[in-house]
Amino acid sequence: MSTFEQLGLSPETLQAIYKLGFEEPTPIQEKAIPLALSGADIIGQAPTGTGKTAAFGLPIIERMVPGSDDIQGLVVVPTRELAIQVAEELNKIGEYKRVHTLPIYGGQDMMRQIKLLKKRPQIVVGTPGRLMDHMRRRTIRLQNISIVVLDEADEMLNMGFIDDIKYILGDIPGERQTLLFSASISKAVETISNQFMKNPSLIQATPRNNTVPSTEQHYIEVPERKKFDILCNLLDLHSPEAAIIFGRTKKRVDELNEALSRRGYSTGAIHGDLSQAQRNAVMSQFRSGSIDILVATDVAARGLDIEGVSHVYNFDIPQDPESYVHRIGRTGRAGRKGVAFTFITHRELEHLRIIENLTKRKIIRHPIPTLTDALAGQQQVTVERMLKTIEEPAISAYKSMAESLLEHHDSVTLLAAALKLLTKEPNTDPVQITEDHYAPPRAKKQRAKAPERRQRRPRPRKAHR
Ligand code: ADP
Ligand code: MG
Repeated sequence: MSTFEQLGLSPETLQAIYKLGFEEPTPIQEKAIPLALSGADIIGQAPTGTGKTAAFGLPIIERMVPGSDDIQGLVVVPTRELAIQVAEELNKIGEYKRVHTLPIYGGQDMMRQIKLLKKRPQIVVGTPGRLMDHMRRRTIRLQNISIVVLDEADEMLNMGFIDDIKYILGDIPGERQTLLFSASISKAVETISNQFMKNPSLIQATPRNNTVPSTEQHYIEVPERKKFDILCNLLDLHSPEAAIIFGRTKKRVDELNEALSRRGYSTGAIHGDLSQAQRNAVMSQFRSGSIDILVATDVAARGLDIEGVSHVYNFDIPQDPESYVHRIGRTGRAGRKGVAFTFITHRELEHLRIIENLTKRKIIRHPIPTLTDALAGQQQVTVERMLKTIEEPAISAYKSMAESLLEHHDSVTLLAAALKLLTKEPNTDPVQITEDHYAPPRAKKQRAKAPERRQRRPRPRKAHR
């Protein structure tokens, strides 16, 4: 295994790595960085959460000329949130080398973006739609680009961005280095690589420390109309530090978010119909811990890296097995532990098996948590808080109060009352979430007679930009 020092990075970039706190390169970084520094085209494949951003981010920063007036590096990503996240990481990596990165994405004010582009960033991270807007308006100059990265390439191509990607790549000088990173490699990825890359080297990295298997996967079979109460029981039982709940549609995500906050959970919603300002605000609340639960459509599933997400709940099983992998990849990142729970209704069992086959991992059946389990979970939280408080010097101010109470009541009764007061007891106010019945995309039984009519639901493209 090599160290970052052995990978051929400059002192400025190494300094940035120390500041980021990375101790050693991940396998994909170890393989991709020296090769990318040599100027080669690369297709890098590695599981989610294994540091692909820095695998292309470090070499891209190294290859930039600081202070230059030209955009020399371009990173194309499928979602707005990812544009922001990747640009942030590149700005951190480029801090000491003084390489400046700008995210551009749909939903943000065009005039503001044009102003920011005039400040001459060396790298732009953008979503395909918005990049093309700027290209058509000639508010971005791609003539001096020396390196292009497609991040989450499989997803972008899946989402129907293939023509957009061709348009963008077609407009960038051929004398450039092209890097393509993805968790999986599809036919569409191969097509793009054949057309737009020069003898790309394929690098595949398996995770060290079992990065992906560190996510425990469970499913709970539950009738549609009981999903919400059972979700609340689970949340009370687990008290997750930070959790993401995935719902199938924007409407359901909104309803879930409202219903959860009515029951006293600290939540925020994110989906494609919210304004970009709202989406950014929710993301920063979640990152800073001022909300514990993010309720999301698949917009949030791709590539987002949020520290400390301990639990992922699939309120609805994803339509697309690939998106299951990406959703649960939001937890158990960088070798930490994570847990994923997926609700399925009886008729979705078959779809679950498809997912198991794809991921080659068994998803373990979990019993339905009851209200009693939920209460026990919350009581445990109270006990832990109380035991921690015992160590705080500030409690001495309460001791004489305790002594005078003990003159009239026995200690067990008093302690029980205190525990009850401190415990967030499960709230069972009735809540209505619109029922959403799921049509499995590959319902084999109905199709038996007409197998050629295999239809996938088209995915809305605009919503993801
Ligand atoms: P991917 O794109 O492969 O899904 P990310 O690039 O988002 O993964 O990285 C996942 C997390 O791992 C991020 O929080 C990132 O800062 C962290 N990380 C990346 N490289 C390293 C490293 N060498 N050591 C420790 N943490 C790292
Ligand atoms: Mg990524």
